[in-house]
Amino acid sequence: MEIKKGIGVSPGVVIGTAIVLDAEDLVVPRRQVDSKQRGEEVARVEKAMSAGSADLATLRDETKQKHGAEVGRIFDFHIGILRDPTIVKQILREIELNRSSAEYAISVVMRRFAQQFQEMSDPYFRDRVKDIHDIERRLLRQLIGQKREDLSHLTRDVVVLAHDMLPSQTAALDKLHVKGFATDVGGRTSHTAIVARAMGIPAVVGLGDITAEVSGGDLVIIDGNRGVVIINPDAEQLEEHRELERKQERFEADLKQLAELPGRTVDGHEVSLWANIEFPYEIDDAVERGATGVGLYRTEFLYLSKGSDEEVSEDEHFDAYSEAIRRSRGKPLVIRTLDLGADKQTQAKQGNPERNPFLGDRSIRMCLHDIPMFKRQLRALLRASITGDVRIMFPMISTLMELRQARMVLNDVMEELEDDGIEFRRDIPIGIMIEVPAAALMASEFAKEVNFFSIGTNDLVQYTLAVDRTNERVAGLFCPAHPAHLRLVRDVIRAGNRADIAVSVCGEMAGDPLYTLLLLGLGLNTFSMNGPDIPEVKKIIRSTTMENARHVARKVMSFDSERQVMHFLREETRKFIPEAF
Ligand code: PEP
Ligand code: MG
Repeated sequence: MEIKKGIGVSPGVVIGTAIVLDAEDLVVPRRQVDSKQRGEEVARVEKAMSAGSADLATLRDETKQKHGAEVGRIFDFHIGILRDPTIVKQILREIELNRSSAEYAISVVMRRFAQQFQEMSDPYFRDRVKDIHDIERRLLRQLIGQKREDLSHLTRDVVVLAHDMLPSQTAALDKLHVKGFATDVGGRTSHTAIVARAMGIPAVVGLGDITAEVSGGDLVIIDGNRGVVIINPDAEQLEEHRELERKQERFEADLKQLAELPGRTVDGHEVSLWANIEFPYEIDDAVERGATGVGLYRTEFLYLSKGSDEEVSEDEHFDAYSEAIRRSRGKPLVIRTLDLGADKQTQAKQGNPERNPFLGDRSIRMCLHDIPMFKRQLRALLRASITGDVRIMFPMISTLMELRQARMVLNDVMEELEDDGIEFRRDIPIGIMIEVPAAALMASEFAKEVNFFSIGTNDLVQYTLAVDRTNERVAGLFCPAHPAHLRLVRDVIRAGNRADIAVSVCGEMAGDPLYTLLLLGLGLNTFSMNGPDIPEVKKIIRSTTMENARHVARKVMSFDSERQVMHFLREETRKFIPEAF
């Protein structure tokens, strides 16, 4: 048994059989062959090993010629491993005894070897761990070809372990069978983590080298509440987590009963609880959990789920928005224009990385650099606007000029539609995300030019505290409770309320029960979050008075450290949901 600590990014506990994706996403499921097939698997291993060592010998000779004998010798280690009779024997034994497939046998034995090297005191051997993974990949590539297993069509329940997952890969997971996932890298508000929360599956990220320690087929516990992954748990751990699983199911069943009840404080103050979505189909589930609108539709997933370089056409945009409107059934639907870039790159941009992508050509900047792409989206959005309560939101606005430019493009599109005799809603509400400190500090000025604000705390924290939201090494510093961030949030809510425009929070902070009392007390009326978070936040809202929430907010704003803030909020929230943290 091994217990690994990471960052819990999506709550819940799951016990399941692992599928491990290596850095190249080669899936090595535990597949048993029948006894007659064993000979075939042995032959496949032998063929892959001799082809692998022949490739490496060529590579070594070429390298020697180009860079000298010293450099070429690096490959002698690789070739030595492939020809090492003890390794070959172990692989063949795995097939003989356990009836494993060639892929699985190689993966198990190589990972075991890597583990042994990792534990050696001599740094020379520890440095060879990467080489062993490299050999494993080389052999698997020989066996699997370049074919990747289709994770979207699994036939049994699994938990997925990967070095990293792109948001689009996470979104494409087969929801029926993928019961949880864990990754080597990542942070709490990386988009992969957000998608996991939206799917409602437990997830832990930032685990370091978990993919090197788990083999496909191992039993794994993913505890998203505590940010822990347990590999091959013992009977005691298993029982403890089974009990947690059951407890959680009961808790969720209790919360579900709240769905029909209004988001209203004890003293009658109404609060809107809206959903964040990446795909229109998520709306049904969110509504079932009590969402009364969609506060953030992340339309860039139209690009990210495409899996190719192709542009998204106006009709594809239009179809997606029409579907979202249909599923919203008259409820407000805030469609955010494309927020591509940084950790949401299209395939084309992946080949051309920026030095500081989060500070680069991202989001509204990218749209204003690619007017035809921007116009295609706006045209579709306006065409769809006549069939529902649609609102447009521009992301990552940092200057008034940027907002005005975006509006100018929108006006151009309106004129073009008029010329073409196509109907649209001219007075469609326009809002902006407040997620850059510059915009938060200028909120009163922005409030004169828009119909609503939505505070994107994921980016606002990242940019205020200079902490990369996707980097597990600084995850401990990523904290919405930092007083500097809280002051910005307070001032934006205040500026919006004074100007009498709607303000919501759609960053992950809105769905974290720790911050519900505080945001309510600061005067926030709309919370937009992942569907699964709605019941718990609603439970807190329905248990408090505004007077209490205001008292909590006043107290919190007097603290000068995030630790004090979190400690106090935890204590206050526990009064309503003792089982919350
Ligand atoms: C945010 O930054 O808080 C936000 C909601 O937008 P995204 O997470 O898509 O960047
Ligand atoms: Mg953002």
